[in-house]
Amino acid sequence: MDKPSTCTYCTLAEARIFDETTLSIAFKDVFPVSSGHTLIIPRRHVESYFELTNQEREDMLILMTRVKDKLKEELNPNGFNIGINEGFAAGQTVSHVSMHLIPRFKGDVTEPRGGIRWIFPDKAVFWNAPPPAPPAA
Ligand SMILES: [Zn+2]
Repeated sequence: MDKPSTCTYCTLAEARIFDETTLSIAFKDVFPVSSGHTLIIPRRHVESYFELTNQEREDMLILMTRVKDKLKEELNPNGFNIGINEGFAAGQTVSHVSMHLIPRFKGDVTEPRGGIRWIFPDKAVFWNAPPPAPPAA
């Protein structure tokens, strides 16, 4: 697919590129949720992660790992969240797949346990709940 002129990521300014490979680009999020919040995208305009080629996925993971090393060096975070908002219902706002690499720091939230489960705050805390009953035989 050609690069649509209406796509925010396809028209990304060169100056915003933090790192890049043959197939992928990394850039800092304009509205970072934490210091160093970086997006990794394929160069090709693809809406869904599941439409990527295996080569594109592998390239994005290689770039993400390199970005992780840079952020570790630059900010020394204590952890990371890695995420993809796949589809409008899951929070995707730009029709071009992106992987979020979000540095995490000790004490940045009161309760970090559960991590990505906090997209559903009422289901995030699971550690006090009794384990589910085993399936009936
Ligand atoms: Zn695009």
